[in-house]
Amino acid sequence: MDFSDTDEEAAFRRDVVAFLDSHAEKKAGRSFDSEAIDAARVAEARAWQATKAQAGFAGITWPKRWGGRGGTPMQHVIYGQEEAKYAVPHGVFEIGLGMCIPTLMAYAAKDVAERYVGPALRGEEIWCQLFSEPSAGSDVAGLRTRAVRDGDDWVIDGQKIWTSGAHFSDFGLLLTRTDPSVPKHAGLTMFFLDMHSTGVEVKRIKQISGTSNFNEVFFADVRIPDAQRLGEVGAGWKVALTTLMHERLAIGTLGGPDFQDVLELARHLKIGDAPATKDANVRNHLADWYVQSKGLEYTKLRTLTALSRGQMPGPESSIYKVVSARKLQDIANFALDMMDSAGLATDPETAPMRAMFQHALLSSPGGRIAGGTDEILRNIIAERVLGLPGDIRVDRDRPFADVGIN
Ligand SMILES: Cc1cc2nc3c(=O)[nH]c(=O)nc-3n(C[C@H](O)[C@H](O)[C@H](O)COP(=O)(O)OP(=O)(O)OC[C@H]3O[C@@H](n4cnc5c(N)ncnc54)[C@H](O)[C@@H]3O)c2cc1C
Repeated sequence: MDFSDTDEEAAFRRDVVAFLDSHAEKKAGRSFDSEAIDAARVAEARAWQATKAQAGFAGITWPKRWGGRGGTPMQHVIYGQEEAKYAVPHGVFEIGLGMCIPTLMAYAAKDVAERYVGPALRGEEIWCQLFSEPSAGSDVAGLRTRAVRDGDDWVIDGQKIWTSGAHFSDFGLLLTRTDPSVPKHAGLTMFFLDMHSTGVEVKRIKQISGTSNFNEVFFADVRIPDAQRLGEVGAGWKVALTTLMHERLAIGTLGGPDFQDVLELARHLKIGDAPATKDANVRNHLADWYVQSKGLEYTKLRTLTALSRGQMPGPESSIYKVVSARKLQDIANFALDMMDSAGLATDPETAPMRAMFQHALLSSPGGRIAGGTDEILRNIIAERVLGLPGDIRVDRDRPFADVGIN
């Protein structure tokens, strides 16, 4: 196996580095992005997105007719690898550009897509994903937000939750139930809507870290024109699968401390009078994380090899997510134990290693839920990688109205 760039990939990487060098600052050492997304960060992200679009580095895999570069998924990965080395804003456009707009390009009428794709690509409009509900997360097809046809419009009533960035988004991709009399997957329809429509209320959720990056979104008699329907009535699940397939590529690598960071921390700490790296328990954990990191590196290279050959990554990419999310949380927990009382300091200016581990402790549980919980990913691995018998799905073929509370 050869993991190095092809000649074309190396040339593209050089172009990317030249662009980044002239438009952004390199990160100083290993640093982490603060979790909080405030108005200033949104403004910064909009400006950075506009700069990328101007230089042809936004929408790398999107067709040229939509303002994209017409490039390969591998080029998209290379751009991400290089951009990660620079201090540029994250967390604002990933869902819209990674998931919502590709769905719009696949399903909207040409004139509708033309109206929305360009402004999103240039950072002028931000999109969010309105799928999860209080009783429909892993089983999103069990959602209950209703859409009822009324003339040329649809009237929406219900509630979404965990909607990342809804409070600064201009538009949202909305999955609704249009027919409760058929089995759950068959009665769904996808729309997009203006988040400033009458009847939309966004309430921020306070997170354990003190930030509020996601929201509850309530809909009371919200009217959406039928022209904003994506796909056929009742075909919303198929449209949602397009979005979720893009999610697999959009989520990518979880940020946060890794083996090298915890090793560096252990080298600087003492347990009793001896360096922490002499402690047998610390050494055992470090060895485990080294092995996991190497395993993950090669698992990722399998995905990259598939992309480089023009193939789509398969269900085995779930292995990467389930192991890395767990590792991140374990590392954060153990690092705080090693730091003892110093673990209580959360100010990046004074805490060891800029409070990287303290912040990871609070954000890492979310990483084990977003984009598929550990259990759901294990189900995928069991059924689609190992070929084990499927999960029990008692409600799959029954009318949704007969299944739960509606
Ligand atoms: C940081 C973050 C950002 C998010 N952003 C968005 C967003 O922008 N838009 C959006 O729509 N959603 C978003 N979500 C929601 C996310 O998609 C859901 O939280 C996720 O799908 C899990 O659903 P749930 O929270 O309802 O948990 P549930 O599905 O209720 O799961 C509860 C528990 O039951 C387990 N479980 C469920 N089903 C099974 C099964 N079949 N077998 C075994 N165990 C099972 C789960 O693993 C979990 O441990 C976000 C979540 C997070 C954490």
